[in-house]
Amino acid sequence: MTGALQNEQLLQTDGSVKKTLNQAGTLFYCHSTCYGQFFEADAVADVRGRVMYHERPTKNCPAVLDINNLRLFDAYEGARQVNSKRQPR
Ligand SMILES: [Zn+2]
Repeated sequence: MTGALQNEQLLQTDGSVKKTLNQAGTLFYCHSTCYGQFFEADAVADVRGRVMYHERPTKNCPAVLDINNLRLFDAYEGARQVNSKRQPR
């Protein structure tokens, strides 16, 4: 599933927050350790409103989809987020 991210504030691996506008990429879910989805991040100091991050573990992928051929969003690999709003978007 390809989606476009509109007007989101995205948490980067280095802890900074980047605003995005119509960024295209692929959202997928194979199983609990292989997916690429957005989640709401913890509150960030000095940033107003919702901040999202892209989590993309790809462990034990059954290779039903070849992620090397997909346009992917950059994965967030910084400090673990503990926000309880875990619903993927
Ligand atoms: Zn997979």
